Amino acid sequence: MRDKLALAHLPTPLWRSDALDALIGTQVWVKRDDMTGGAEAGNKLRKLEYLMAEALAERASVVLTCGGLQSNHARATAIVAARLGLASCLFLRTATPSLPPAPSGNVLLDRLVGAEIRLISPDDYRSRGAVMARAAAELASRGARPYVIPEGGSNALGSLGYVDAMREVRQQLDLGLGGGPEPFDSVVFACGSGGTAAGIALGASEWEVAAEAHAMAVCDDATYFERVVGRIVVDAQRLAPELDRRAKLTVVDRFKGPAYAVASDEQRRFIVEVARRTGLLVDPVYTGKALFGLSKLEPKPRRVLFIHTGGLPGLLAQADAFAGEL
Ligand SMILES: *Cc1c(COP(=O)(O)O)cnc(C)c1O
Repeated sequence: MRDKLALAHLPTPLWRSDALDALIGTQVWVKRDDMTGGAEAGNKLRKLEYLMAEALAERASVVLTCGGLQSNHARATAIVAARLGLASCLFLRTATPSLPPAPSGNVLLDRLVGAEIRLISPDDYRSRGAVMARAAAELASRGARPYVIPEGGSNALGSLGYVDAMREVRQQLDLGLGGGPEPFDSVVFACGSGGTAAGIALGASEWEVAAEAHAMAVCDDATYFERVVGRIVVDAQRLAPELDRRAKLTVVDRFKGPAYAVASDEQRRFIVEVARRTGLLVDPVYTGKALFGLSKLEPKPRRVLFIHTGGLPGLLAQADAFAGEL
């Protein structure tokens, strides 16, 4: 495997609650990757352990990345960059690129650590790779050393972070955590740019964590993600040829709600109910929709590993949307 930095606080706990099992209707072990760190926590930190190692190896002075305005990935990248003494430049998608964004949630954290924020329209965001490549060339011409991280940190290198996460779960299972050494029936998680899904598909079979996985799409659709994840898997196998098997991955796109980052009333009520009955906080962009989807899945896997991928700052940026449910 490739070099990586130790950025995350690992292993993250495996957590279970009778109240959550009752709410979801099956046995759910929650992998608390919302606890991979402090303000930088979430699934992106596992990918950044590999990506930022490469950035440092290439002697980068500035990292560029992109995402939605409230991107957890952009925030984690900006915080880690600050921690490593690098600058960061974030290309954030918004329908109103000429208006300064409200400094809430992830944007507040981006600003706190001094990230440069460049707002881009949904139209320009479609060619985000070219936009970042142009900006990188421009920065390089001024003497900076740019390192570009794709959306969500979702490339082959980043996905290795989730191969490692599955090894970590295997070690926990062997220690008797997570209900014993037998594999789970499925790994369930939110899918937004596909890197987590690719790493889990490869790692879950390599480390016998589960033969099956359900990726709950929060945008786009199943056909899109099957293509995107399939490509990352093939690239990752080129980096790590020992990963020669993959779990059966089902992309479920029926629970993504009204739009990316917009939850339905029913999904918001579900998030509130989970919080009140179990103390587990899930967000309306990713983890809340994925857990909601699991609660509706038919047939439901009997013993599930649910990856809590983080996202709390995105929840904190949606106070208004929740006002009616509280
Ligand atoms: C980015 C993100 C995801 C999705 O992971 P991908 O690897 O982009 O598919 C899920 N949950 C949270 C909280 C995220 O920030």
